[in-house]
Amino acid sequence: MKTLRVNGDRLWSRLMQMAEIGATARGGCNRQALTDEDLAGRRLLSRWAEGAGCRTRVDAVGNIFIRRAGTDDTLPAVMTGSHLDTQPTGGKFDGVYGVLAGLEVIESLNDHRLTTVHPIEVSVWCNEEGSRFPMAMMGSAVWCGRLPLETAYALTDRAGVSVRQELTRAGIATDAALSRHAVKASFEVHIEQGPVLEQKSKTIGVVTGVQHMSRHEVMVEGQEAHAGPTPMDMRRDPIRVLADVLPALYAAAAQRGRDARITFGFIETLPGSPNTVPGRLRFTVDIRHPDTQQYQALREDLNGLVRAALKRHTLEGQSRCVWEAPGVSFDPDCVAAVRSATAALGFNSLEMVSGAGHDSCNVSAVVPTAMVFVPCAGGLSHNEAESALPSDLAAGANVLLHAMLSMANG
Ligand SMILES: [Zn+2]
Repeated sequence: MKTLRVNGDRLWSRLMQMAEIGATARGGCNRQALTDEDLAGRRLLSRWAEGAGCRTRVDAVGNIFIRRAGTDDTLPAVMTGSHLDTQPTGGKFDGVYGVLAGLEVIESLNDHRLTTVHPIEVSVWCNEEGSRFPMAMMGSAVWCGRLPLETAYALTDRAGVSVRQELTRAGIATDAALSRHAVKASFEVHIEQGPVLEQKSKTIGVVTGVQHMSRHEVMVEGQEAHAGPTPMDMRRDPIRVLADVLPALYAAAAQRGRDARITFGFIETLPGSPNTVPGRLRFTVDIRHPDTQQYQALREDLNGLVRAALKRHTLEGQSRCVWEAPGVSFDPDCVAAVRSATAALGFNSLEMVSGAGHDSCNVSAVVPTAMVFVPCAGGLSHNEAESALPSDLAAGANVLLHAMLSMANG
């Protein structure tokens, strides 16, 4: 089994076939959750799974599970999976690579007539992107028990169409079982969606976890005044707070190491007129860090700086956290399986923490989990120009294959 390798050409060919569904003029994909395009993609996958002799099951929230029996089929499955849906201007690899690499693991075992003790499963998580129905990682959240099924059903797109309606339209039984079956271990292979592997010329990212992330909104009340006649010392100018916080928080982030991330993604003044001192300021800060202590410290840095600036300029306002996804540490045994497979295959690798959220964050709440990253060109993702090398994609699938085999036969 040690010499077993996936068929990289078949994997690439299937990625390109899947990319034809919802193909955009600029070379990307638009296959948003439960649209006609997504459903066509799911049908194509089901046909391939059937051809591979697998049993396919769809649960009540539209997650697909493709199963290859084990020699003892009563044992918990060794699972891998990702998502087939894309952003409106998505690429050919985000998510779909993880699904098709999983199918390629099954096909390769079939090619060589190899059995595993534990069953092998490929999961396709419904609505990972959250672009059409505003809840990223929806299907995996329901599966792991973090999100009530009814909450998922009630989500609507911009046209007012609900998840429940679209599942019904797709012929997915909303009274189907949702019970979580036994899973021994789960893996997900994904493009990095960042530039680090490519820059460091590494083929494999051994992903040890996902960083902490949160979004904060800062609101400051000032007083509208004429930009000309009002002396500087007689203004209640909310921008003073921004002027203090910006350089100080950048400096604080620099103190918290290279892994710290702060992003001022949205800054708005009201009324937004060039010759009026703004009456109100609103801005957001996205804070991320893999280390719990440093992450908490950065959050406190923000709150402390806002408080101090408000006081200094005698202004009213507040900073509040509007969204948080706590960081995840993946299972040491699963990470070790990825690490050993990578070493045995002789790939250059890097241990890293994911900067983006993935279905595996949810899965890891209930099943031992780890992830594998491969480079993508320029670190671009959620972009029609998303691109990856066939050799890197095959490398990631080979790591996946051997990590899964070590769990499925161990
Ligand atoms: Zn993804």
